[in-house]
Amino acid sequence: MKSRNITFMPAIEEIIAECRVCHLAMAGQSGEPYVLPFNFGYREGVFYFHSAPQGWKLEVLKENPRVCIALSTGYDLRWQHEDVACSYSMKYKSVLARGEVEFIEEYDEKVEGMNIIMKQYVEKDFSYNRPAIENVMVYKVKVKKFECRVYGY
Ligand SMILES: Cc1cc2nc3c(=O)[nH]c(=O)nc-3n(C[C@H](O)[C@H](O)[C@H](O)COP(=O)(O)OP(=O)(O)OC[C@H]3O[C@@H](n4cnc5c(N)ncnc54)[C@H](O)[C@@H]3O)c2cc1C
Repeated sequence: MKSRNITFMPAIEEIIAECRVCHLAMAGQSGEPYVLPFNFGYREGVFYFHSAPQGWKLEVLKENPRVCIALSTGYDLRWQHEDVACSYSMKYKSVLARGEVEFIEEYDEKVEGMNIIMKQYVEKDFSYNRPAIENVMVYKVKVKKFECRVYGY
């Protein structure tokens, strides 16, 4: 079975909608790679993230905002012969997205970012109290390049 590259944006966005976690790859000035699992939101070519206002990742992202986001889902182990290791494989759907992190400062845009993140997980509208929004970091990545590959689908 061969893997298949997908370029049709609605199909890529369907895969993103299925994902629960992404991995955000970054590297500061030293070039040392740093990858973290993140919850996220996505709308119209833009990923949204939130975090505490301190932490190592923020130092790295401020030094170098270029990131690569990896998402995958649809894992399914399959095999042709139970006793032959080489006959095993795993179905998957995978998306890579590249862009630059922008920190969101404006209050209403932070609220919108939080709503987009929540919508990835629950079909519900939320309200937030002002200190909660003021104390959270919200950032976005406008995707410059998407790549998508599926195997077994
Ligand atoms: C499924 C999942 C979803 C998550 N979603 C979010 C999210 O939406 N927002 C968010 O801010 N964080 C999220 N996290 C936690 C995130 O991966 C980081 O651990 C966290 O943001 C702290 O990162 P930091 O660079 O600020 O680390 P710091 O607190 O500054 O810690 C520094 C050191 O701790 C180590 N470290 C940090 N994180 C991890 C880790 N995850 N695993 C192993 N070692 C680590 C590293 O060596 C790093 O150098 C999620 C984690 C998981 C597993």
